[in-house]
Amino acid sequence: MIFGTCPKCSSHEIYRGISTEGEGLTPGSYPLLAEIRAGSEQTTLWIDTFICKECGHVELSVANPDALALLPQADGWERVTPEKDSPQEED
Ligand SMILES: [Zn+2]
Repeated sequence: MIFGTCPKCSSHEIYRGISTEGEGLTPGSYPLLAEIRAGSEQTTLWIDTFICKECGHVELSVANPDALALLPQADGWERVTPEKDSPQEED
């Protein structure tokens, strides 16, 4: 999806919010922000939203990956293991 093709319906009608470098947030640019904190350190993940016009599939991607360095230590976040990720498929 980030590369312009919907993984669900193969459409190329993909839209994303546009961010304006250096001018802060604009409506539609980063509809989602995630504040993460680890002890006294804090950072904000800016989350790009990609939407397929044809089928409504949505993908999210962090736009400032440098901020991800804090994620493994962040309070309230845990790494998802494959077992926890798909409990409904265990029979
Ligand atoms: Zn689609």
